[in-house]
Amino acid sequence: MKQSQLFTKTLKEAPRDEKSPNAKLLIRAGFIDKLTAGVYSYLPLGLRVLKKIENIIREEINRISGQEVLLPALHPKKNWKITDRWQYKEMFKLKSREGKDFSLGWTHEEIVTPLVQNFVKSYKDLPVFVYQIQDKFRDELRVKSGLLRGVEFLMKDLYSFHRDEKDLNEYYEKVKKAYFQIFKRCGIGKQTFLTLASGGTFSKYSHEFQTLTPYGEDRIYLCPKCKLATNKEIMKEQNYRCQKCKSQKLEIKKAIEVGNIFKLKSKFSEAFNFKFKERDGKERLILMGCYGIGLGRLMGAIVEVHHDKNGIIWPDSVSPFQIHLLSLERSSRVEKISRKLYKDLQKGGVEVFYDDREDKSPAEKLIDADLIGLPMRMVVSERTLARGCVEIKKRNQKRGKLISISKVKKLI
Ligand code: ATP
Ligand code: MG
Repeated sequence: MKQSQLFTKTLKEAPRDEKSPNAKLLIRAGFIDKLTAGVYSYLPLGLRVLKKIENIIREEINRISGQEVLLPALHPKKNWKITDRWQYKEMFKLKSREGKDFSLGWTHEEIVTPLVQNFVKSYKDLPVFVYQIQDKFRDELRVKSGLLRGVEFLMKDLYSFHRDEKDLNEYYEKVKKAYFQIFKRCGIGKQTFLTLASGGTFSKYSHEFQTLTPYGEDRIYLCPKCKLATNKEIMKEQNYRCQKCKSQKLEIKKAIEVGNIFKLKSKFSEAFNFKFKERDGKERLILMGCYGIGLGRLMGAIVEVHHDKNGIIWPDSVSPFQIHLLSLERSSRVEKISRKLYKDLQKGGVEVFYDDREDKSPAEKLIDADLIGLPMRMVVSERTLARGCVEIKKRNQKRGKLISISKVKKLI
């Protein structure tokens, strides 16, 4: 894509009320735009990142047999009355012209449970794994951390349905592995830790995946040896010890929950009276698990982890483009070679963002490239061409190196 054709521009300043690095950088670099607190538009660059994250998640969830659906965001009151969650404080409510009550989905157990119930009658129909990637709406207080906490935000929510506890437990472990894989592929594997959290009424623990960042709202106690953390909320119960090795040498860290997994057991099947026929002919309650990942929050967390004072440093896997090609000066030679490289790189299947802007100085182009943060920068200038070369620099390295133009082809 040619940068001259992008309708968005980089900004010198972030909005004053944005304090978190993810919001400041993503807005300045033109990835997102703030409509109002906690509500953001994804612009062309930002949407490319979001789609890459989405595809990583989709691949990993499909790998553990998830079946993708798209459930409604608009919910009738009756579903929420069944579980007695109509009064939930974060739920947005609205009325139709005829006075019918609706809410905007903040989660989907109340929708997915009766849906699956329509089809699952016998143990032969089980297990079932259903997921979607969809906007959620929550009347959150204090939205001040950019994409980390939205009022409208994209979530991957997976729900699993099982005939017994063994099956639920096995699948739960599979999801745990898939989650580690997702966060690793998104470039935050090293900063993301499995964290014990309260399990509600039905199991002892649930598990969160917490990414270390100073803007995280959670506090976790991390065991540096076991790499297992415990959420501060339940630390008292555990006597401030690591649950694995019992060590008390734990580090308190700020972190953000990028995902969580939860055994719901029969909480929702009871409410909906969702039973199946076992092999022995008896009726039993279905057991459920639910598993969430916030995609916007994940994108925000990636930026929190990967940036410096000049801008974002995208991991390859989620970067909107692979190479930022800069035609640095306005000279016919520089422009001609840049155009040729742009074509060749594209032909070679490389995703190139081509800075062909005519009204920007070399300094402005270099500053923008750092801010936008593509993993690799390729500069064509009079200086590099004098040596028959282009300069290649990784965003996370200080110095670039000159490579001959003929070698660029090989590199592709
Ligand atoms: P939190 O404790 O941060 O409010 P939660 O426990 O309410 O999160 P869930 O309802 O389990 O979160 O949602 C699943 C996932 O959705 C979370 O792990 C997180 O990644 C994401 N998420 C939750 N709330 C938000 C939000 N307001 N903005 C962006 N992502 C969110
Ligand atoms: Mg919440």
